[in-house]
Amino acid sequence: MKARVNKIIPFSSVDGPGNRTAIFLQGCNINCLYCHNPETRDRYGDQKLTTVTEMSADEVLEKVKKQLPFVRGITVSGGECMLQPDFLTELFTKTKKLGLSTMIDTNGTIDFADKQDLLDVTDGVLLDVKAFDSDIHRKITGAGNETVIANARLLASIDKLEEIRCVICPSLYDGKQSVRAIGEMMLDLYKPHSFHFKLISYRPMGVRAEYAHMLTPGTDYMNDLAGILSELGYEETIVV
Ligand code: SF4
Repeated sequence: MKARVNKIIPFSSVDGPGNRTAIFLQGCNINCLYCHNPETRDRYGDQKLTTVTEMSADEVLEKVKKQLPFVRGITVSGGECMLQPDFLTELFTKTKKLGLSTMIDTNGTIDFADKQDLLDVTDGVLLDVKAFDSDIHRKITGAGNETVIANARLLASIDKLEEIRCVICPSLYDGKQSVRAIGEMMLDLYKPHSFHFKLISYRPMGVRAEYAHMLTPGTDYMNDLAGILSELGYEETIVV
């Protein structure tokens, strides 16, 4: 089985715990207004914009092995990597035999509930919750967030949720209201040192020209959001 691979970054310290090899698969099922990687959205990739390589799990692992023993694990991202779940299952099964951990970075719109084989070989999920309100999520991405919310709760309940990520873009929605609502919604499933939040400031670099005017939140605003989560009882929030 082969996957469409956009790129592999040998060392990344921002895609899950520790130093990891990050693998970006081609193709995404939603269309975020602030997408920083629009060239990864097309299922097959516009060859004028990007390079896509069909790779087997073994071929990807050959690239990963070059970083042994300097990486703790791999993270597969996109685009949306959950569009190719059977490939992920095979890749993660083989990766774990190398003693490496396995993480999925996802927009959350594809259901995890019917993917037990994949969950069995996945150590953690970095999950986007782009907005608490489904209509706002649809405005930002073109899709509602019912599956995202269900995934967040399912993954937390089985200790597979590593991180909830919220891109904060005040031009599109009320970040304070949304972050508070997400925090409250997840609180009954939170245990110290289980999952954490990552609040990501919207920045215009790489976005499509028509959205480049949107406001970047200031440091005070971002710290206020982290304060909301702290007040709710979350021990760790990363602001970037
Ligand atoms: S989920 Fe990621 S790759 Fe897909 S449109 Fe949104 S930002 Fe772009």
